[in-house]
Amino acid sequence: MAVVALVDGNNFYVSCERVFRPSLNGQPVIVLSNNDGCAIARSNEARACGVKMGQPWFQVKHLTETHGLVALSANFELYADMSERMASLIAGFGPVQEIYSIDESFVDLTGVRGDLTERGRKLRARILQWVGIPCGIGIGPTKTLAKLANHIAKTAERKPGRYPPELAQVCNLAALPQAQVKSLMAHTEVGEVWGIGARIAAQLKAEGVHDVGALAALDPASVRRRWSVTVERTVRELQGTACIELEQVAPDKQEIATTRSFGHAVTELNDLREAVTEFTTRAAQKLRGQHSTCGQVLCFIRTSPFRPDKQYGRSVIVPLIRPSADTRALVQAALRGLNAIYRPGYRYAKAGVMLLELQSETIVQGELDLTTDEATKVDGPAARALMGTVDRLNDRYGRGSVQLASAGLSGDRRTWTMKQERRTPRYTTRWQEMPIARA
Ligand SMILES: [Mg+2]
Repeated sequence: MAVVALVDGNNFYVSCERVFRPSLNGQPVIVLSNNDGCAIARSNEARACGVKMGQPWFQVKHLTETHGLVALSANFELYADMSERMASLIAGFGPVQEIYSIDESFVDLTGVRGDLTERGRKLRARILQWVGIPCGIGIGPTKTLAKLANHIAKTAERKPGRYPPELAQVCNLAALPQAQVKSLMAHTEVGEVWGIGARIAAQLKAEGVHDVGALAALDPASVRRRWSVTVERTVRELQGTACIELEQVAPDKQEIATTRSFGHAVTELNDLREAVTEFTTRAAQKLRGQHSTCGQVLCFIRTSPFRPDKQYGRSVIVPLIRPSADTRALVQAALRGLNAIYRPGYRYAKAGVMLLELQSETIVQGELDLTTDEATKVDGPAARALMGTVDRLNDRYGRGSVQLASAGLSGDRRTWTMKQERRTPRYTTRWQEMPIARA
């Protein structure tokens, strides 16, 4: 029989912050989205204070006074690094791993011998000790059942009494008696099922299907007629038939975008040039990461529809002479686009860059390149080696260590950078920000 596990970090962003600031343990903590807009992660204590997922910061700000709520700006560099550390430990759990999101991995345990629940507990303890992140682990015969088991494992820990306490932290549905699995399903609301969104959940309930047990008891063929193939697949997965494969390798992206709202309105072309250079640089690095080139660069700028300003917004697509993954060529194209659409006299709130017409870097157009200087020949071997070196330096010394001059001088003098007034240090990826322990 197939067995799949889902390992999922609890309140992941908050947990990452707590590793380096243990004083946050037991406190209501939230992490805010870019530009400190709204809550994107909450500690259990913050949930208990009534903070909702996605709730705007200004609506909960008063809780800092009344409940000691701590709000932090998102520190994605830290979270991404912690995520990699966690995923590398999870890799030892079974032969096939799908990194599903920043804090979740599926692992195929089919054919893995021994007590899988016990192995799960050991893995959980190891991640907690080595990385510092508490996890929930769900195990079941299909991905959907592993997700359900994970929900039970996390809820049993967070809300004692909701499920049997022995299922907290690690829940292995594949090892439980059928009758108990049925009872767990009967006690779980249908909207908790992976793949059942709020709309479908409401329709199911309207037809008397309130809990997971009732959903799993439906006839798959009728479900397909009434809803869709997707819901049918979910029902079959709940019944124990695997329909959703593990994806070991994430499919390459068809387009790569970097867009940002500015921390403050931007009026000067030069500031926009810096922003567009940096966005393109970041997108180009991702492009090289998936070994692709792009044929067109889209650049856009716009004012904020939420401000009483004069409104303006435009985008432009700049085709490249030949497909490229060279930051210099892409930035040149993006800046040419920016020059064409920029109009003075507006307060710009957002800009972005999209790389389009992506293809594999192995596809090379045979063409006479009249550039004679090897060093500046974009896409020549020298240029490719240069880009590789830049990527390695930035990986090692932190994003932006080596950049094009048009990105300007980094630091707080930039007017366009995101508002991140409450960001913690990037402890694990910047030498200057490494935590200091005093004995
Ligand atoms: Mg999580």
